[in-house]
Amino acid sequence: MKAFAAGHLLAEPGHQKVSGPVTVAVSEGRVVAIASHPSPSAAEARLVALPPLGNAHDHARLFRNATLGAGGLPFEAWTHLVASAPQVDAGLAVRDALARAALGGQGAMLLHYTRAQGLVDPFAEALQAAQAIEAVGIRVAYAVALRDLPVIGPGANKQLLAQCSPALRQMLRERLAASTATMLPAREQIAFTRELARQIDSPLIRVQYGPYGLEWCSTELIELTAQASAEEGRRVHMHFLETPYQRTWADRRYPQGVVRFLDDVGLLSPRLSLAHCTHVRPDEMALLAERGVTVVSNPSSNLVLKSGVARVPALRAAGVRVALGLDGLALDEDDDALREMRLFMHLHKGWGFANPASGEVSPGDAFDAALKATRHAMFGLEDGAVIRPGAPADLLFLDYASMTDDLLLDGLDAAELVAARAQRAHIRHLVVAGRDVVRDGRIAGFDYPALRAEMLAQARAGKARMRQASDLRPDIDAALGAFCRSPLLGCC
Ligand SMILES: [Zn+2]
Repeated sequence: MKAFAAGHLLAEPGHQKVSGPVTVAVSEGRVVAIASHPSPSAAEARLVALPPLGNAHDHARLFRNATLGAGGLPFEAWTHLVASAPQVDAGLAVRDALARAALGGQGAMLLHYTRAQGLVDPFAEALQAAQAIEAVGIRVAYAVALRDLPVIGPGANKQLLAQCSPALRQMLRERLAASTATMLPAREQIAFTRELARQIDSPLIRVQYGPYGLEWCSTELIELTAQASAEEGRRVHMHFLETPYQRTWADRRYPQGVVRFLDDVGLLSPRLSLAHCTHVRPDEMALLAERGVTVVSNPSSNLVLKSGVARVPALRAAGVRVALGLDGLALDEDDDALREMRLFMHLHKGWGFANPASGEVSPGDAFDAALKATRHAMFGLEDGAVIRPGAPADLLFLDYASMTDDLLLDGLDAAELVAARAQRAHIRHLVVAGRDVVRDGRIAGFDYPALRAEMLAQARAGKARMRQASDLRPDIDAALGAFCRSPLLGCC
């Protein structure tokens, strides 16, 4: 039995008023009791405890965007610079990414493992990732990246290659050959996912099917994913309608309607979460809501990659559950889930006086998106992210005193204060399943600065592959731009 003390408790932000001081008693990964604390220490009295935020869409990318020289590019060009990042040991890469997430207030992440390091075979790499997850200690829904079409843009490779300079064409041809060589047939990818789940599903890890997105997947692979998910009850996560060009592509590729297609193949269900949906239309929202699909909005990523602003109020008004993700592209490139929640709230709170029927986002709704809807997208939980006896012992402790030193009135809504002000600098401790993940603002389980130094040393040794893509950045921008603006987009 362990006990954690705090001056203030936000057991269910947006739904319950703050209480405290309290002691939260924990045993075998669960909260067993919450009692009032008569005499917290000065350090404990400063803290507010709340459920850790979730991040329902990420990739454990190693490098921040500006490091890759990819700033200012739209998604379709950006992806070619990201693909040139140096390869490092996957165990180091995942430890580093999840440690950054934990320091950003994330107690749970949906890790869509689309950026394999590729230094060992894919199954061995997935096992290394699982070990890294257990070492860091946050909860992870691990979506196995499924794709069976080697593509370089939203449309026919041949036509896109024709727009490229000779040097870029050669680089992209080499990449296409390399990705074709490592792609398993659709059925084997489903079997891979099943076997991985058998080996790594644990109290902390839950495997999902993770088709990249429709541009990268055959109809057979999408159908097999839908069947396997229905048979096993396993969840599915996929990118969907992230960019305006993907919208145009999808409208040409699926004349019956792309959401209708997903429904026809049986993919739409409460087990499915779709990342982005920046360009989903009102009639499509209604069908997503009817089927119980969760949409994972990634506001910073959509701004950074020039994809757009998701119509979150319209989605919510249509009855769609909306969760929050960071996509590895938080506004300050720092994995801060608290500030991402704030951006989500301000972007979608509506204009002028309140009109709740419009689906606009209140501070409580923003917490629901970051806490409850993320747990649903990851683990299918209906009532996750509450601190109460019997619930998972997941707790985030913030330095509440330092963010409230100017208050004049008693009784202000603590959830509103946290939503308005909290950021990663306020994070003191993160506890997941009763275990310290962050203690006194540092990763608890291992020497994180040493691990990061080792990871960066490996990356610097392998940075040559970045040079080629970096030199070709103007060509990438020009070729993808010409292709995406042309009628060739989505053409067969
Ligand atoms: Zn993504």
